[in-house]
Amino acid sequence: MANFETVEVSTDLLIVGGGFSACGAATEAAYWAKKNGLKVTMVDKAALDRSGAVAMGLSAINQYVGVRDGENTLEDYVRYVRQDLMGISREDLVYNIARHVDSTVHLFEKWGLKIWTDEEGKYVHEGRWQLMINGESYKIIIAEAAKNALADAGGEIYERVYITEPLVENNKIVGALGFSTREEKFYVFKAKAVICTMGGAVHVFRPRSVGEGLGRSWYPPFNSGSSAYFTIKSGAEMTCQEVRFIPVRFKDAYGPVGAWFLLFKSRAISAQGGEYMAVRKDELQNWAPYGLAKPIPANLRNYLGMLDMDAGLGPLYMETSEAINKIADQFKDDPKAFKKKMKELESEAWEDFLDMTISQAILWASQNVKPEEKHSEIAACEPYFIGSHSGASGAWVSGPEDLDTPYKWGYANMTTVEGLFAAGDGSGASSHKFSSGSHAEGRIAGKAAIKYIVEKGAAPAIDTGKVDALKAKILAPLDMWNAHCKETTDPEINTNYILPRQFMFRLQKIMDEYAGGVTSAFKTSKSLLERAMELFVFLKEDSEKLAARDLYELERCWENVHRMWQGEAHVRTMLFRTETRWPGYYFRADTPKMDEANWHCFANCKWDPATGEWEMMKRDVWNIPGV
Ligand SMILES: Cc1cc2nc3c(=O)[nH]c(=O)nc-3n(C[C@H](O)[C@H](O)[C@H](O)COP(=O)(O)OP(=O)(O)OC[C@H]3O[C@@H](n4cnc5c(N)ncnc54)[C@H](O)[C@@H]3O)c2cc1C
Repeated sequence: MANFETVEVSTDLLIVGGGFSACGAATEAAYWAKKNGLKVTMVDKAALDRSGAVAMGLSAINQYVGVRDGENTLEDYVRYVRQDLMGISREDLVYNIARHVDSTVHLFEKWGLKIWTDEEGKYVHEGRWQLMINGESYKIIIAEAAKNALADAGGEIYERVYITEPLVENNKIVGALGFSTREEKFYVFKAKAVICTMGGAVHVFRPRSVGEGLGRSWYPPFNSGSSAYFTIKSGAEMTCQEVRFIPVRFKDAYGPVGAWFLLFKSRAISAQGGEYMAVRKDELQNWAPYGLAKPIPANLRNYLGMLDMDAGLGPLYMETSEAINKIADQFKDDPKAFKKKMKELESEAWEDFLDMTISQAILWASQNVKPEEKHSEIAACEPYFIGSHSGASGAWVSGPEDLDTPYKWGYANMTTVEGLFAAGDGSGASSHKFSSGSHAEGRIAGKAAIKYIVEKGAAPAIDTGKVDALKAKILAPLDMWNAHCKETTDPEINTNYILPRQFMFRLQKIMDEYAGGVTSAFKTSKSLLERAMELFVFLKEDSEKLAARDLYELERCWENVHRMWQGEAHVRTMLFRTETRWPGYYFRADTPKMDEANWHCFANCKWDPATGEWEMMKRDVWNIPGV
């Protein structure tokens, strides 16, 4: 058997993940831990400076409420999220994040992030809630603050350690298991409380970019469903597992469109020149009341474009040149000022990509695209799981302690498993928190977790027999390879094992063809989903046969197992919800209408670690009174 050295780490609070919500959790928890003589430990599969969805940088902070300047109220934000998610959101969580997010943004600025300001010193807004930033080094700045806070409180950081399994005893979290992605070391983390912040998931569905483009996606390839896996396998109740996110972005390099739509007020059109948001306006009646209110939900905007594609009117284009020229037109009587403005807009257009999606700038350059002269193709991406953005999947967590919410069973952001907290993409039904809101939610969870430890934290009782068995299971793909690698002339093909890359292709084929991926034009049905469930049985069986040639592939094996569980929770929940609520994200062709009478509710699910059975359940939607 592969026999890695076992490293045991004991801590009070364990934060799994090192992204935006983890950094928020670490910064806040370290402060309270120091006061109470507690230890905080953070574990990231990558290097903190450039890990997670913000690794490449961002060009905007997407959640800033602006309470200080009276720009908006917290209630405005709650209404905005309710509207965008077609009525299904945890308003207590959204409210809680909204009331803390501005202070988080002010901290970012204090730590050195450059937020654009105008001549009067006011933040430059991209849209109502978004602030423009020079964000190439966004993650480094936020990570530095977390590192400093942990160092000051005597905490620890483990980088390049892949968290594989939760450790749970009697519905109480007691730690986590993982392995180093660089050395033959197996980690046993023992903790009194754990915050799960391992991001969302990509490559569960077959991406548009295959062959030479494989690996390119809108969502960064590093997050592979570990938050969902960790919380599901712990036995936590999950929510909104059907609410995937499909962004419409510049095609093939997935460049951002926010600046174009919001800052430059650009139009999106079909190849025939029709603006689908105007031409297909009547379709929005079918999705009332959400289709008729402003802003039109993201999924409905996608859907109108998809209808154009279905009707053979594609490709779709972003009218970049029209938008730029329209803005510069204000200076048309002054050639010098016109030229200056055009130069400025042109550089803002490129900067937007260079800040966060460099590959889009490369694609534009390679295809001779000058945004001021020529429009650019846009398309709906493959589906992703990102509950912090415009998706909603994640764990079902307890609401804020001081709010009169019906969803409360303990400490803020604690899942239904005792001592296990979740934030960012890890917690569900609280969309539109983005980078700043995820950090704020991490802070909320960090403070609550320390309070839990102070009031209730018991020394973790670890079952060593269980740990040994799990260690053997986690390292088994290396043994599988060693046992059978000589029984083939082609290492990629063997009747006794499957390599992670092939396994990922099988998962993606199931999801794409049966669960409403790109090649199925995002459509699915009861029969298709049931067939997916049949195929999942074989996929799960074969996951026991995963083989890894080295440490790198061992990580890939477990990433794909995590993706598989995320995929299964998704399929089960789409099957459970017998309506279509988010066309443009997915369309259940057999139940093509929204059914407010029966499905204005959360669709939750839970996997029972004792029996291995799934349970599906409805939960009521509660609106904040008067909002
Ligand atoms: C393409 C894109 C563009 C975006 N644009 C904007 C924008 O313009 N403005 C904005 O405000 N927000 C934007 N967002 C949203 C923002 O990035 C997310 O909301 C935020 O990063 C979520 O924080 P998180 O902590 O949940 O996840 P992440 O920040 O993604 O962090 C996840 C962490 O978990 C770690 N991890 C994963 N698996 C494991 C494992 N098994 N073991 C250990 N560690 C693990 C990762 O290495 C990473 O450190 C964008 C997101 C994407 C994907």
